[in-house]
Amino acid sequence: MKIILKYTFIFFLTISFSAQEIENIFGDKTEIYFSFDYDKKKQIDKISKIISIDHKSNRLKIYAYANKKEFLEFLKFNIDYQLIEEPLFKPNTSSTRSNWDYYPSYNEYVSLMQSFADSFPSICKLHNLGTLNSGHEMLIVQISDNVGVPENEPSFLYTSSMHGNELTGYVLMLRLIDEILNGYGSNSKYTNLVNEVDMWINPLANPDGAYAVNDNSVSGATRYNANSVDLNRNYPDILDGPNPDGNPWQDETVMFINLADSVRFNLACNLHTGAEVFNYPWDRWSNLTADDDWWQHVSAQYADTAHVNSNNGYFNDLNNGITNGWDWYEINGGRQDFMNYFKFCREATLELSSNKIPPGSQLPYYWNANSPSLINYIEQSTYGLRGVITDSITGNPLEAKVEIIGHDVDSSHVYSDLPVGNYHRYLVQGNYQVTFSKNGYKSKTIDVAVNNNLATTLDVQLSNQNNTVGIEFQENPKTIVNSWDILGRSVLNKKNTIIINTYSDGSVEKKIIIE
Ligand SMILES: [Zn+2]
Repeated sequence: MKIILKYTFIFFLTISFSAQEIENIFGDKTEIYFSFDYDKKKQIDKISKIISIDHKSNRLKIYAYANKKEFLEFLKFNIDYQLIEEPLFKPNTSSTRSNWDYYPSYNEYVSLMQSFADSFPSICKLHNLGTLNSGHEMLIVQISDNVGVPENEPSFLYTSSMHGNELTGYVLMLRLIDEILNGYGSNSKYTNLVNEVDMWINPLANPDGAYAVNDNSVSGATRYNANSVDLNRNYPDILDGPNPDGNPWQDETVMFINLADSVRFNLACNLHTGAEVFNYPWDRWSNLTADDDWWQHVSAQYADTAHVNSNNGYFNDLNNGITNGWDWYEINGGRQDFMNYFKFCREATLELSSNKIPPGSQLPYYWNANSPSLINYIEQSTYGLRGVITDSITGNPLEAKVEIIGHDVDSSHVYSDLPVGNYHRYLVQGNYQVTFSKNGYKSKTIDVAVNNNLATTLDVQLSNQNNTVGIEFQENPKTIVNSWDILGRSVLNKKNTIIINTYSDGSVEKKIIIE
């Protein structure tokens, strides 16, 4: 009895001391930033479920954010920590405000997004995914030729700054929208992307965090949203279920889940800052994805191109600017893994700058360093194995499963999308056996060869099991496997020039498409 009393007393003391300590530490802040020495990976993985480990962390030191409740839990581990006072971002009032060297006010942001759609109505649409309690809107632009009309094109997504104090990508995305729209018809790369891809760009995924203090400035921006929740721990998790962080889905989370439910994104990237690295799946477990080689190829392309376009020493964190998520630190409830596992979308996490909110004057540098890589990454969405799946008799497009035999694992298969029936399966160079299947239809397995940075087109007709007509359709033997221009560069539907198509039956044909 005596012993129990004694322990109860000590337990009480610890908790009440911590609660007081927490009030002192937080003051009027809703989240704090701190560091502690890296111990064992196992312990870090446990702690990462409680607090929010920051991108700045490395194998020696962990940097993290916590709200009051999370910090109380952290204290129970009895780990020595150092509080970090992040310098308050000071907006540069002398900046020109014309060369994308400033962070716009919230209202300027809304006007910019509106003006994109107003100025380029035939290729740009503005969508509001929802309005937060604060009145802030979750805005996203959709860019494509025949914008809003479903076509045989991959759907691509860039979304930035779900951590409200990581803002380099916020301005870079606004500039990317501006450059693509203004370059349409003159810049051949931008024109090709608008013609061939259904692009969605959301520059600011956590407006309440970015404008935590007021709408005039991002000074005082927070990582978390207005409810002190880390949005990048708030998604359904492969192992921990729908609410891995113990919080209900935030409005921001619901908006993005709804978006992913209505648009079948094929390739995506989620932009952050705090480090300089391209982080590919998985974040939550040590399993490698089926397409680890492809991810390494795409990541290396991003990093290598960024190195060419920047000063020495930029974008070389971890393995020279590339990392597997799990190798860095575990994240549960992250958006990247959610999109990959539950939405069959290839999504990566991009860390653009060590400085979370660099001075506005440095933003043009980050643009020059990253814009070619950002464009290349969008271009990747047009490559790999792709085509349209239809009913062999009616010709109607089908939503069918596309699975690589002996290769797919952990939800790496994809589906074709209606109303067009198009599918997009990104694969590293190699030979694959692909099975196309749908309930009520006879499955088909076809051998294909895929090349890096090229599209292999394979349209497939599936025959309904109830068909008694007795006709078994073979795949069109003249499927285009590769297209090249006369200099041997890969091209996609290039107009007014000679292109050489190689077909799946081995034949080669020269042609010219006149616009
Ligand atoms: Zn982040």
